Amino acid sequence: MALIVQKFGGTSVGTVERISQVAEKIKGFKAQGHDLVIVVSAMSGETNRLIDLARQMQATPDPRELDMVLSTGEQVTIGLLAMALKSRGVPAVSYTGSQVRILTDRAFNKARIQHIDDANIRADLDAGKVVIVAGFQGVDEQGNITTLGRGGSDTTGVALAAALKADECQIYTDVDGVYTTDPRVVESARRLDKITFEEMLEMASLGSKVLQIRSVEFAGKYNVPLRVLHSFKEGPGTLITLEDGASMEQPVISGIAFNRDEAKLTIRGVPDIPGVAFRILGPVSAANIEVDMIVQNVAQDNTTDFTFTVHRNDMRKALDILGQVAGDIGAREVAGDDKIAKVSIVGVGMRSHAGVASKMFEALSRDGINIQMISTSEIKISVVIDEKYLELAVRSLHSAFELDAVNQPEDHI
Ligand code: ADP
Ligand code: ASP
Ligand code: MG
Repeated sequence: MALIVQKFGGTSVGTVERISQVAEKIKGFKAQGHDLVIVVSAMSGETNRLIDLARQMQATPDPRELDMVLSTGEQVTIGLLAMALKSRGVPAVSYTGSQVRILTDRAFNKARIQHIDDANIRADLDAGKVVIVAGFQGVDEQGNITTLGRGGSDTTGVALAAALKADECQIYTDVDGVYTTDPRVVESARRLDKITFEEMLEMASLGSKVLQIRSVEFAGKYNVPLRVLHSFKEGPGTLITLEDGASMEQPVISGIAFNRDEAKLTIRGVPDIPGVAFRILGPVSAANIEVDMIVQNVAQDNTTDFTFTVHRNDMRKALDILGQVAGDIGAREVAGDDKIAKVSIVGVGMRSHAGVASKMFEALSRDGINIQMISTSEIKISVVIDEKYLELAVRSLHSAFELDAVNQPEDHI
């Protein structure tokens, strides 16, 4: 008998029928004698609908009130799932984040979990109940409702598993595991049996939204056994594990991630003197704009070009700031481009293999795809390219690194 935390995502609880199917599945697990804590998302599309309602009320919704609205999505599903279980004779009880007391900081819309009270949950488990917890939400010290950022139910699941020292955290979704790349984009993508925390963290950070970044961070930090599985199809899914030094068969590249959420800003004719990078990026970070890739060219005639990327939603704001900065430091011009995409190859196998970057660049050049920016770390290489070549680039890298499946993946829900 094990203690298992299971999280079901939005599509898996998207209709009354699906919630009933989930209840049947839980009933089956319960019959095997497991202690179960279930985390659910809002029904698919619901969080978007709530955001839209809020925006109709206030162009930039008040962060506290937005969380008040958003948290209702998950509150509906926990209640419905509890009813579905009770109607099947399975004892169950539902709790919102604040009822459990999933304590977070005060960062509305992107709060971080600080502590979870496990007393009530344990008492209910001891009483034989299935405990259902609303994903994506918590409460701060003052009792304000907070939410954890898009995809945050994954983090609720992993954090609960860590707090309860669960035997496994299972993330049920609409694909049967983590794939070499998004199977919606590349048909020949292949399910991975295993992926390391480190690789999964890179994949998530670089755009693979199958797991929220923080959930992977949490799982790595507390060593929570984490598995991604299909909600309605049997299968082993993908296990996220510690690096396995013994496995010699480690492929060079485990996966390809991509992201269309960024925009590129360039400031040209920047005087090449100490302190300039700070004078450009200081005001950008003071405006709370996160900067991702940064490239500064070698100076010619004592001036240089400086390019960096930010989230697409921040491009306008960043351009305004740069316009100001350009005047102050005597730069020639500023330009913004939001028709870009970032493609990254990820793999711990890169550490022990040479020539990975050149293989990547060769594959892109064969398809005539121009690389605008490059950044690397120990286990990933990212390039910025024209957005219109994104899918082509992902496909061509997928086959260049021999990731293609022999058999096509099965259909998703
Ligand atoms: P849920 O609503 O269950 O949380 P998400 O939509 O957040 O589901 O995550 C599942 C989706 O993630 C899949 O439908 C798939 O399109 C996408 N995805 C992106 N990259 C990958 C990947 N490498 N492997 C599997 N799925 C991926
Ligand atoms: N409902 C939230 C979202 O759509 C959280 C989640 O599903 O994980 O982002
Ligand atoms: Mg998700």
